[in-house]
Amino acid sequence: MPLVATEAVVLHTFDYLESSRIYRIATRDAGVLSVLAKGARRARTRYGSAVDLFAQGDVRLSMKPSRDLQTLVGFDVTRARPELAAVPGRITAAAALAELMMRFGGEEPAPAVYDALVAALDAVARAACGAAADAGLAGAWHLIARLGFGPSVDRCGVCQRPVPDAQPVPFSHPVGGVVCDGCVRGLPTGRMLPPPARLALRAWLAGEPSPAGNDAARRAHQRLLREFLAEHLTDGRELRAFAVWERAAWDAA
Ligand SMILES: [Zn+2]
Repeated sequence: MPLVATEAVVLHTFDYLESSRIYRIATRDAGVLSVLAKGARRARTRYGSAVDLFAQGDVRLSMKPSRDLQTLVGFDVTRARPELAAVPGRITAAAALAELMMRFGGEEPAPAVYDALVAALDAVARAACGAAADAGLAGAWHLIARLGFGPSVDRCGVCQRPVPDAQPVPFSHPVGGVVCDGCVRGLPTGRMLPPPARLALRAWLAGEPSPAGNDAARRAHQRLLREFLAEHLTDGRELRAFAVWERAAWDAA
């Protein structure tokens, strides 16, 4: 079986049988994969000192294209990200990013997507108390843009005419972006995007940080993001980490 060496981040982990563990990982060169770490709970040295959620490192995989579960041969952790647990709000934002990657990341190599995920997790891990949600929003929209289904924020998603910035504009989930006054008739009612929210969304899609605004604006952004993702899901399963992330923001407010 071909041996693949690449870089990876742990998105999800669960114990398997008596001594093994299954990881869902995002890799730089082989997409999002499930890998079996045989005996991982017994011989931890083989897989680095501690491979935990959101850990990043160099992996060696034994790959068989026809198989759903690949085999993890080695994992040298280069970045464990313990700081995600140090400040409230970071871990729920990171979990939402991991869920986004697991639900929308493919099995084909996508280094630019992987790099956006790593940058997003690092930004959340660095975020000061109260700023983790903004870092999560920024990272999620940048990831969406890199995954190739970012919404249109400058031009009408229907007729492609530029939509002026001066006033709130309708945002349509089925269309996948802002809609001009002429095209909005006949569409299901969407959200109204005020100018500051549109500015933030534009920056985030380009991979630039931008504050979400006050708590109400932040919650509106989280709702918009979750609804946008739900519109693009094909299996109808709930985005559980996003629901927890939103509730956590409510509790913290
Ligand atoms: Zn239009």
